[in-house]
Amino acid sequence: MSDKTPEARAEPFGDPLSAPFWAAAERRELVAQRCEACGRYQFYPRPFCLSCNGDRMAWATVKGTGTIYSQSVVHLAAIPGFEPPYTVAVVALDEGPHLTTNIIGGASAIGDRVRLAWRPREGMPPLPVFEKEEKR
Ligand SMILES: [Zn+2]
Repeated sequence: MSDKTPEARAEPFGDPLSAPFWAAAERRELVAQRCEACGRYQFYPRPFCLSCNGDRMAWATVKGTGTIYSQSVVHLAAIPGFEPPYTVAVVALDEGPHLTTNIIGGASAIGDRVRLAWRPREGMPPLPVFEKEEKR
């Protein structure tokens, strides 16, 4: 038996605004807020739409594909569990919003196409990370 299943978690992970994101992450589903008025996606979650100022924000599943917008390779051991060197990146999701994340699986460059992977964490929802798409 595992105590890491969503059903076993006594309290939702995250604050009230981000809890739906983490609940979806437990299912390995990447979601972003989508405005019900104008249809724009945004990340990170906010109580209003950055595009039209509307307040009817819903959560929508995104494909988990995008392009590396910016990246930096970290060579210092600053975060437990992240062995340097590791890549911190901003990925522009195909739906539009930008997500700060990690690139796994080797060298990458700005402009590379990436797809979603999940980094498991002990006692917490997994983190969405990205890896380069296969070359065709
Ligand atoms: Zn809007």
